[in-house]
Amino acid sequence: MRISRIETFLAPPRWMFCRVETDDGLVGWGEPVVEGRAEPVRAAVDVLAEYLIGQDPMRIEDHWQVMTKGGFYRGGPVLSSAVAGLDQALWDIKGKAYGQPVHQLLGGPVRSKIRAYAWVGGDEPGEIREAVTAQVEAGFTAVKMNGTGRMTPLATRAEIRDCLRRAETAREVLGEERDFGLDFHGRVSPANARRLLPLLAEYAPMFVEEPVLSDHMNVVADLVNASNIPIALGERLYTRREFLAPLESGVAIVQPDISHAGGISELRRIAALAEVYGAQIAPHCPLGPVALAASLQVAFTTPNFLIQEQSIGIHYNQGAELLDYVADPEPFRFHAGSLVRTERPGLGVDIDEAAVRAADKSGHAWRNPVWRHDDASFAEW
Ligand SMILES: [Mg+2]
Repeated sequence: MRISRIETFLAPPRWMFCRVETDDGLVGWGEPVVEGRAEPVRAAVDVLAEYLIGQDPMRIEDHWQVMTKGGFYRGGPVLSSAVAGLDQALWDIKGKAYGQPVHQLLGGPVRSKIRAYAWVGGDEPGEIREAVTAQVEAGFTAVKMNGTGRMTPLATRAEIRDCLRRAETAREVLGEERDFGLDFHGRVSPANARRLLPLLAEYAPMFVEEPVLSDHMNVVADLVNASNIPIALGERLYTRREFLAPLESGVAIVQPDISHAGGISELRRIAALAEVYGAQIAPHCPLGPVALAASLQVAFTTPNFLIQEQSIGIHYNQGAELLDYVADPEPFRFHAGSLVRTERPGLGVDIDEAAVRAADKSGHAWRNPVWRHDDASFAEW
């Protein structure tokens, strides 16, 4: 069996899919994308496809090594996301070739269902009560929201109060039996994070995510020790090597994205590294159905998996939804906030190819919003 064709499709709201076909007629799907940088990732996939066409699709690890290291220059989100999507598609093909779900090929399942959380926004504190209530009514046992809007480097009392009110409101609606994660989204300076974490502890968030930008890895150990709140990060880290420093600093949860951090092959290794440090994985995934399906395959077979992000109903999605691109929504049907394991082969997702091809005709040009402070200087989004 040889790889005979590789195509990419831009799909609203801000995603990209790749389709890898073999001369036996097997088709594997992947989701290589950096949100807001889809076009450079597409170009990187085209370059990697030059190597893959004509190769045996079953030699995933060897292809991963060549794609990651074979260009002399290595690393960064664009290349590792291109590799990630192709890696997912190769695992999909391998599973379909053996008639087995990917989690069986990775050692078999260790759990029967995957707890997921729903997004409830949070950029505007006034939205939170209604949004959290809706997700509780939909059956979710956990939600995640942004902890702040734009925040000045040394926050005013009002900015600090607004963040605490978000947490207080979420805890009031959720009660003691459900959880919320608070995403600082890299918007919070180290000084503000040190102030906020002890004040937030009384609301017992499940975790605080990206308490500071990954540029400030040197302060992560201080933030781990600033309160009893578990610290989570990693959506902007791309290799197992980059996860070593935060794990050594004592983060409780790592959040690699299966479409940014080298695909199924690297996510498994990041999870194994985290296991050494007693940390859990909670994969980042504000993406489409292939990235979610691939994340679930890893989660089913990973002992130190905690909870899965997913984008159904997320506030970023405008004009298209995850379920628009699947022929059968059953694997993505929530049962009391969890997704149930199936034995479908490959990634276990049935992509609606006609919908994907139609989406690519209009494509998208999604770009990250650019925020500014009151004095017009750049603000983290
Ligand atoms: Mg985040």
